[in-house]
Amino acid sequence: MNRLFRLLAPTTTLNVVLHIVLWIALVSVFNMGFAYAFDGYLDRGYDYYLLHGLFVGGPFVIFVTFVTRYQLRLQRHLSLLSRKDGLTGLNNRRTFMTLAQKRLDELSHGVLLLLDADHFKRVNDVYGHAVGDNCLMEIAHRLKWNLRPIDVAGRIGGEEFAVFLASATIEQARVIAGRIGQPIPFRADDENAHLTVTLSMGAVVIDPTRSLDAHFIRADDALYAAKNAGRAQLVMWTPDLESPHAKNPEAA
Ligand code: GH3
Ligand code: MG
Ligand code: MG
Repeated sequence: MNRLFRLLAPTTTLNVVLHIVLWIALVSVFNMGFAYAFDGYLDRGYDYYLLHGLFVGGPFVIFVTFVTRYQLRLQRHLSLLSRKDGLTGLNNRRTFMTLAQKRLDELSHGVLLLLDADHFKRVNDVYGHAVGDNCLMEIAHRLKWNLRPIDVAGRIGGEEFAVFLASATIEQARVIAGRIGQPIPFRADDENAHLTVTLSMGAVVIDPTRSLDAHFIRADDALYAAKNAGRAQLVMWTPDLESPHAKNPEAA
């Protein structure tokens, strides 16, 4: 199909001219074909012109409809590919940032949550990349099943995810994060292996006067603190995390 479309779509100026000439020639042939077939039989009345229009224009209308439908399907598919993460079906980083920015502009309440799979490299190293991929899909499922339609979720990096809990209070965010943060089972080749992955989470309450990037920095600091505190937990951002020692506790 793509080959046919490449054949039909003119790319150079010369090609455009050739295509126009070819199409005009084709329509003329259809015209002459109709005249040759029917001129002797039909009066040049109402039905003659109606039949003429159908005979000459019909095939082209069908063709154009077919081409535009195909183009539209292709466009939708490409748009989906550019907006979503191919593995998990979640929003990709760019889409997440756009949607989160929209929520930030619209709402004065909410919580931004950053999530990172714990010791994920080990999953890949021990069970292989395919099992790692399967684990990422399970994490995405966990997110999809535990979020509300107004929330926005995305895969923003390899094993990192982000969620914008729209209009949520700290308490609501804790409850949702508590559900998301339960160990997530995933399958390996060995059916008997019962594997789970945990998530570390950093959260920050939305401050409408600050930028999305500023929220990301805070949520990232909180995530870093969650990792340092032993992983598999949620840390809410507080101003003391902003101290230079929060990044490097050993240096304190
Ligand atoms: P931590 O608990 O500190 O987050 O440790 P970690 O092992 O999860 O973090 P690290 O950054 O060391 O490793 C992340 C790994 O995620 C490394 C990379 O190979 C893997 N990864 C990234 N993207 C994908 C992917 O799409 N599929 C798979 N299977 N692995 C991925
Ligand atoms: Mg990471
Ligand atoms: Mg990780």
